Amino acid sequence: MRAVRYIGEARPQVMDVPTPAPGPGEVLVRIGGAGVCGSDLHVLDHSIGIKGPFTLGHENAGWIAAVGQGVSGWKEADPVAVYGPWGCGICHSCQTSAENYCEHHASLPSYGGGLGSDGGMAEYMIVPSPRLLIPLGKLEPVQAAPLSDAALTPYHAIKAALPLLTPDASVVVVGVGGLGHMAVQILRALTSARLIAADVEQAKLDHARDLGAVHLVNTSDGDRAVEEIRSLVGERGVTVALDFVGVQPTVDLCSRIVGRASRITIVGLGGGVLHYSANQPPYGCEVSVPYWGSRVELMEVIALAQAGYIKADVETFPLVQAVEVYERLRQGRIRGRAVLLP
Ligand SMILES: [Zn+2]
Ligand SMILES: [Zn+2]
Repeated sequence: MRAVRYIGEARPQVMDVPTPAPGPGEVLVRIGGAGVCGSDLHVLDHSIGIKGPFTLGHENAGWIAAVGQGVSGWKEADPVAVYGPWGCGICHSCQTSAENYCEHHASLPSYGGGLGSDGGMAEYMIVPSPRLLIPLGKLEPVQAAPLSDAALTPYHAIKAALPLLTPDASVVVVGVGGLGHMAVQILRALTSARLIAADVEQAKLDHARDLGAVHLVNTSDGDRAVEEIRSLVGERGVTVALDFVGVQPTVDLCSRIVGRASRITIVGLGGGVLHYSANQPPYGCEVSVPYWGSRVELMEVIALAQAGYIKADVETFPLVQAVEVYERLRQGRIRGRAVLLP
C-alpha cells in the first residue's frame, strides 16, 4: 500500500510499504482521511525529537477492516475515529482516559500513530488497542479525522478555561488555522464570552468571521494589536488568551492583553518563551500548557460535530500530493484543515 513516510528528512516520502495485519489485541483500520497537522512540520524539522522512520498522520478516521485475536465488540466496516495520543493504558491518567498525560510517556515507544508509530497517511493503519477507537455514528471519516486533534486539542484547552468564560468575559483566539478555526466554533458552541479572533493574515481573519467571530484583530503590528484589543475589552483586560501559534510575538501579545485573574493557554509549539516579572503577566493570571485531549473529550467533540455545532473546514487532497500539501501548510496556504485521502 501507499504511505507517506517520515524518513528522518525535512521532506516526507510517498512510498510503497507492506499492508499490515492486526496482531492479538490490535485493530486494522481502513483509512478514510488523515489530517495534515502543523505539528508534523516540527516532526519533519526535528524540533520535537521524534525519530523515524514511520508513516505520518496522527489525525485519523476510517472503518474497521479487521480485528486481531481477542478483540470483540467491533465489527468490520464500523466507522471510527482513532484517538491520537497513545498512552500505556494502565496508569492513573490513562485510566481516567487522559492518555495525553500518560505518566509513563517517557518510556513509551512512541507518542502515537504518526508520531513515532505508523500513522494514518496510508490505506490502512494498525491501532494497538480498541480502547483507542471512538465510534462515529453517521459522521463521515473524512470530516471526523481532523476532529481527533484540530478540534480535540482546542476543546481540551477551552474546557479547562470554562469557569472563567462567563458571559461578561472575553476570549482571544490567536492564530485561526487548523486548530484556531475549530476553537472559534467550540467557543461559540460552549460559551457566550466575547470572542476576538487574532491572526497576521487577513484570509484567516475572514475565515474566523465566516465562522462567527465578531471582533477581528490583525496582529502583524504587535503594539497596535495590543491597543486594539485593549480598547475592545477595556480596563479589565482579556479574560482568556488562547495561543495556537506559540511563537515569541504571540506569547508576548497574550502576556500584554490579559487582565488580572485571567488565563493564558499556550497550545502552539512555536518555541516562544513566556517571561515573568512582577505583575507581567498580571497578578492572578493562570498559565496553562495543555497537550491534546482525553479519550472522553474526543467523544464529546464527536458529539458536538454530530449535533452540528462544529464542523472542520476540510480541503481534501490525494495521498500522493502529501509533499506539496506540507509545503502549502508551511507557507500558510491552507484554509481550515487539509485532509489526505488514500
Ligand atoms: Zn497535530
Ligand atoms: Zn499511562
